[in-house]
Amino acid sequence: MSLPVIEGRSCEGCTACCEFPPIRTEKLQKPANTLCPHCAEGQGCTVYDVRPDVCRGFYCGWFFLPELTPDWHPAESGVVIRSEHFEENTITLLILRLSGFLVSENFAGMIGAWVEQGVGVEFERVGPPGHLPAKMRMNELLEDAVAARDLRAMQTMFAWALAHIDKTHTWEPDDTVLRSALA
Ligand code: SF4
Ligand code: SF4
Repeated sequence: MSLPVIEGRSCEGCTACCEFPPIRTEKLQKPANTLCPHCAEGQGCTVYDVRPDVCRGFYCGWFFLPELTPDWHPAESGVVIRSEHFEENTITLLILRLSGFLVSENFAGMIGAWVEQGVGVEFERVGPPGHLPAKMRMNELLEDAVAARDLRAMQTMFAWALAHIDKTHTWEPDDTVLRSALA
C-alpha cells in the first residue's frame, strides 16, 4: 500500500507519537513509552522548528485510510494505526488504552473487513515506561469469527489477545538514554 495523506486530517489533540516510540537521533534520544521532554500538555511540540526529521516524517494510519470514521482518531479511540508496515500489506494497531471503542461494532467491523481482504492485522501493546512494545498477529485467531460474521466472538478474541500480551509478554528494556541537544 502506498497511499497519499488525506486532506483535512490532523493530529488534533493527539501527542501519542511524542510518547510511545523510542527516538534515537543525533540530537534527541528518548526511551519507548516516555513522553518527550519537549512535548507540552495542550501545546504539543515546543521545539517544532528544530524537531528531528523522524518527527517531521511520521504520519499514523489515520492520515491514510479513508474508511476510518472520526471515532478512529487516536485521541478518541486510544488506537494508533502504525503505517510502517503498510508496504507489507499489514496493519498494526497499537492499543494505547483499553476503551469502549475496542468493543464497538465499528472497531470489530473494520478489523473483520481487513481480515476478509487478506490484510495482515496485528495488535500491539505499549510496554512499561522504558520498555519496547509487543505485538501479536490476529488473522488466524479471528478467521472463524470473521467468516461467521460473529462480532461477539471477535470481541472475545480481542480481549483475550490483549490480556495475553499484557500478562505473558516479557517486556524487553529499551536501553535508550534520555538526552536532548534541542532548544
Ligand atoms: S498518532 Fe497519529 S494523530 Fe497522534 S500524534 Fe501521531 S501522527 Fe498525530
Ligand atoms: S521533538 Fe517534538 S515532535 Fe519530536 S517527539 Fe519531541 S515533542 Fe514530539
